[in-house]
Amino acid sequence: MASKNVLLIFKSNIMYKPVIYRLARDFELVFNILEAKILPRREGRILLELRGSEDVIEKGIRFLEDHRVLVEPLSDKVWREDDKCVHCGACTGLCPTGALSILRPEMTVSFDVEKCVACGMCGLVCPFGAMKDVTLFDPFAEGRPVSQ
Ligand code: SF4
Ligand code: SF4
Repeated sequence: MASKNVLLIFKSNIMYKPVIYRLARDFELVFNILEAKILPRREGRILLELRGSEDVIEKGIRFLEDHRVLVEPLSDKVWREDDKCVHCGACTGLCPTGALSILRPEMTVSFDVEKCVACGMCGLVCPFGAMKDVTLFDPFAEGRPVSQ
């Protein structure tokens, strides 16, 4: 089973429609709301983990877009500059989702971007600035332009 973390942005004209419910009913996708912020009558933002086959996840995303939900994969927003990472492991203890983890016996740090929820913790502790944009990208920043 694949998983994908996405930021959904609902403008006021669609924010009260039950489209997320239909992801489960029509596509049998498993979803997990990681974080949400609603500005009444203006905008809603939801960080969502989608789980299912890759094909069905893509169909679910297309369904959301067809209903005028803006969908931003978090994997487009954060990444690691691998040549800067020295695999010190400092970030792994803080990562709440296991996106950063120590591989054994190699003792290297792997980064699974699909598990990342852009909390920014690794960006604060990495001494080499290897985790890019995690502290700059605030999915809930009011007025943040989409797809910047
Ligand atoms: S931003 Fe960093 S600490 Fe937070 S979930 Fe992503 S990889 Fe883990
Ligand atoms: S703290 Fe930075 S250098 Fe250390 S393992 Fe994490 S990303 Fe790599």
